[in-house]
Amino acid sequence: MATDYDSPRKTDDDLGEDSLQELQARRTDKSSGSIDIDETDLAESLELPGADLSNEELSLRVIPRQADEFTCSRCFLVHHRSQLASERNGQQVCRECA
Ligand SMILES: [Zn+2]
Repeated sequence: MATDYDSPRKTDDDLGEDSLQELQARRTDKSSGSIDIDETDLAESLELPGADLSNEELSLRVIPRQADEFTCSRCFLVHHRSQLASERNGQQVCRECA
């Protein structure tokens, strides 16, 4: 009776402790590893696009005139092609000055 009663309890306790320890060990390993990877990935993915966008915006602002733009011969402002009112002898005039 004693052996029959004790043996199942010991195995149950051992299995419970082992499984709990294994689960805790696996959880800590997985969580810590995934958090480290996510932090580095997020930092890199967040930094790169922002830097690229700012560089593109700066380069676009530095360029004075695009291919689809013109400089008005009266106000000397750069306008889009859609704002071109008239062009005489290479003198382009915007709608505001026309
Ligand atoms: Zn003008």
